Amino acid sequence: RRKMRKKIVAGNWKMNLNLQEGLALAKEVNDALAADKPNCDVIICTPFIHLASVAGVLDSQLVGLGAENCADKEQGAYTGEVSAEMVKSTGAQYVILGHSERREYYNETPEILKEKVLLALKNGLKVIFCIGETLAEREANKQNEVVKAELEGSVFNLSAEEFANVIVAYEPIWAIGTGKTATAEQAEEIHAFIRSVIAEKYGNEVAENTSILYGGSAKPSNAPELFAKPNIDGGLIGGAALKCADFKGIIDAWK
Ligand code: PGA
Repeated sequence: RRKMRKKIVAGNWKMNLNLQEGLALAKEVNDALAADKPNCDVIICTPFIHLASVAGVLDSQLVGLGAENCADKEQGAYTGEVSAEMVKSTGAQYVILGHSERREYYNETPEILKEKVLLALKNGLKVIFCIGETLAEREANKQNEVVKAELEGSVFNLSAEEFANVIVAYEPIWAIGTGKTATAEQAEEIHAFIRSVIAEKYGNEVAENTSILYGGSAKPSNAPELFAKPNIDGGLIGGAALKCADFKGIIDAWK
């Protein structure tokens, strides 16, 4: 059953590393994986300005490349924005959308995210779509309704065929960059719920084929326990993706 869907470890560099530092890290990760082949798909998501150069140092068979965002408009007079087509033209194959930091600090609403997802897919990018509840929502036991509404609000308008290009990342906001990881049991419980919601919408086969990643203070020490859970198909890694040894340690949790 698990073999049907992809196992994935994706790094999200956020707003860290200048171009030289980013290139050095990308090379280091690529070399480490060339020497010791991963047992999962590996993706690095970088700031926009790194993409084209990083694409040049990655073996695309070994490491996928993604952006951390893209515009909700196709092209034109939107000063400072970067379109999905531009992202694709760098050689990137993925884009993270709906990260809680974008939702919170840049006011990305479900409607805006819906547009971004459509444009990303139209341009041939796979979407890593982030969902997750705040601490207050978890304390009020509202996590299930929150993640369900996030899916309904921005990706359940897609056809099943389109949805096949969506990777879901469950990231409890209270666990992002805080050092607090959801326990493997907490994560598994909500991942199973997310899969059931996808099954209700698209049927069992689509749900079984959807990779659902955990994100939030994942590290080499907790990744094995998380990845051992039947509904956790990998991780979206922030802080620990900034050091090759930590990122590789998480990738190795699939071995
Ligand atoms: P973290 O970030 O691993 O640093 O908690 C994860 C994320 O926000 O994607």
